Amino acid sequence: MGDMRGRLKKGLPTVKAFNQAWTGRKAKQVQKTLNNLKLTILCSFVTVLVLRGTLGGSSFYSPTQDLQQLHENLEDAALKETRRILEEKEMEEEEEELEADPNVPYSLGPEIKDWNEQRAIWLSKYPHMAKTANGNDRFLLVTGSQPKPCDNPVGDHYLLKSVKNKIDYCRLHDIEIFYNMAHLDQEMAGYWSKLPLIRKLMLAHPEVEWIWWMDSDAMFTDMVFELPIEKYKEYNLVVHGYKEQIYNKKSWVGLNTGSSLFRNCQWTLDLLDAWAPMGPKGAVRLEAGKVLTETLTGRPEFEADDQSALIYLLITQSELWSKKVFLEESYYLHGYWVSIVDLYEEVMEKYHPGYGDHRWPFVTHFVGCKPCGSYGDYAVERCLNQMERAFNFADNQVLEIYGFQHRSLETAKVKRTRDDTADPLDLHPQHLSG
Ligand code: UDP
Ligand code: MN
Repeated sequence: MGDMRGRLKKGLPTVKAFNQAWTGRKAKQVQKTLNNLKLTILCSFVTVLVLRGTLGGSSFYSPTQDLQQLHENLEDAALKETRRILEEKEMEEEEEELEADPNVPYSLGPEIKDWNEQRAIWLSKYPHMAKTANGNDRFLLVTGSQPKPCDNPVGDHYLLKSVKNKIDYCRLHDIEIFYNMAHLDQEMAGYWSKLPLIRKLMLAHPEVEWIWWMDSDAMFTDMVFELPIEKYKEYNLVVHGYKEQIYNKKSWVGLNTGSSLFRNCQWTLDLLDAWAPMGPKGAVRLEAGKVLTETLTGRPEFEADDQSALIYLLITQSELWSKKVFLEESYYLHGYWVSIVDLYEEVMEKYHPGYGDHRWPFVTHFVGCKPCGSYGDYAVERCLNQMERAFNFADNQVLEIYGFQHRSLETAKVKRTRDDTADPLDLHPQHLSG
């Protein structure tokens, strides 16, 4: 299945050490240096231009090329400077972080044993909160990204596209959305951050029946498909995965947590408590990684990740957890992008949205792409091109409502698919009919 996770290189230092203080004055000084730099480049450019003109110029002389070069130089310098400023700021903040005491066992929070009862009492006090206005169970779609800007600014652009995509799906399907950018728990940074976050949101939102975690690098690509929620009545966790791969093969990629549903109940709190101990960053996470690599098939050596840890729990404590975990494979609750993105054109020709499976994939997840970080498993350009295509493929289904389409899956540009009308609501008012 080739579903590689790009985590080996995670945690490599990306910044140099700086210890100057970040102040408004410093920022101004940097701005001044930048301006001086621009002036210097501009002067050199003029000098070169004059010299070339005086000497008659060579046959390669092209003022447009020079101008373009100048722009590129200025952009490079400005970008480098912005990056340096951000890195400096980041270094200071990292220094402020407190080291966790390894002798204190990690806990997600005070132990709760009667959450089902607490929640039931709360709901009986506020019965109108139990369902949405449409009478559905309440869903909260939860996603998020790192607190700081992406290493590559284009990564931020795709985070924006990805959250727009989620806002669209949620608006169309009566789902609330929560975007997290804070590290609620320093020890559970990175991919482990969803654990404290899910717990926090469950306890703060007793009205919500299902927390739907979705990675920032996953997009809805079927805007019509709805979860077959009836199927999950007896289950507390729904995740895309394969029984055979997990329980027999012990494959480290037997499931994917990139898009998964957690029921707001005691069982989920217990699961999070059992899941979290492998997460605290540093020695604990590294040691746990060794255990995971020994136990699971195909897992490279690296620190513990949330997904391997969940598979580990399912295998080693099967009697405790398996019964309530629904492994979904009948549609793409999560879909591995490599096997999906080349099919979009064919899919558009043959089918229509609403299937959620190979005929019209529900979710396309860019596993291993790391568009916001620096070290992915795939070439950045390939990832970005395909993310653009996935976004436009999904966005066509939104724009269609308003009479527009992307000119192709490759472009952000749109074209009209129908003309505007003076009777947009199809009411045939009297004053129009004559
Ligand atoms: N994430 C987060 N805060 C962070 C870092 C990561 O909320 O500081 C989330 C983000 O939504 C990301 C997810 O954790 O998509 C899992 O990481 P990633 O998608 O990079 O892993 P992969 O799917 O490639 O294995
Ligand atoms: Mn992901």
